[in-house]
This record gives sequence, C-alpha cells and structure tokens, in this order.
Amino acid sequence: MDCLFCSIAAGEIPSAIVYEDAEIIAFRDIQPAAPTHILVIPKAHIPSVDGVCAENSRLVAHIFEVIPQIAAAEGLSNGYRVVSNCGPDAGQTVPHLHFHILGGRPLRSEMC
Ligand code: AMP
Ligand code: ZN
Repeated sequence: MDCLFCSIAAGEIPSAIVYEDAEIIAFRDIQPAAPTHILVIPKAHIPSVDGVCAENSRLVAHIFEVIPQIAAAEGLSNGYRVVSNCGPDAGQTVPHLHFHILGGRPLRSEMC
C-alpha cells in the first residue's frame, strides 16, 4: 500500500523522530503550526479515527499513554492540544491515523 505515514513508520522516508517503540512512532510535523508540532501514529495502518475498533483500540490507548511523556520531554508544562482530523470536512490530508500534539504558545480556539 502506498501510504506516506506507513513509509515513515517503516523508516523508508526520513523523519525527525522524537519517540518510537514496537507499535507507535512520533515525529515532528514537516510544516509546524506551533513551536512544538509532533505527530503520533500507530505503525499499523489505520486510515483514520473511523477505523478504530475493538481489535486496534489498544494502540490508541497506548498512544495516549505516551503523549504525556512526549509533552513532558518537549517542555510543554503550560499545556498542549491533541488533535486528530478525520475525513475531508476536518481537513485530513494523510489517510493514516495520526494525533497532532501542538504547543509552545497559547493556542486559539480552532485547531491551532
Ligand atoms: P492532517 O492534515 O491532519 O492529515 O495532518 C497531516 C500532517 O502531516 C500535516 O500537518 C503535514 O504537515 C504533515 N506531514 C505531511 N508530510 C509529512 C512528512 N513527510 N513528515 C512530517 N509531517 C508531514
Ligand atoms: Zn499507512
């Protein structure tokens, strides 16, 4: 399957990795919308939040266990935002489940 984030997870496309384990990987967004902008993805291909189900939801739980560790490592002690765009109306551009971590400045009421 031709998927950008599957290729990043496989190490075929370089990225600025900030966290990796057997199941998930986190890397810096190539077009940061905030001083800290990190994407956290499962290595397994899940197209979007719509693809989360009983068989794979533990990966999402694992991502949310790791997000606070990443935020702490990035020094986001004043807060941060976690966003997942699902589908065209949300502006999802990469069809592989990902969670944006945004922080490092006060964020407006929209995504960033
Ligand atoms: P979304 O619009 O929610 O699907 O988010 C996709 C994100 O992926 C955008 O913020 C892009 O800037 C980011 N992105 C696209 N290509 C890359 C890449 N090669 N490395 C890191 N981030 C990327
Ligand atoms: Zn993928």
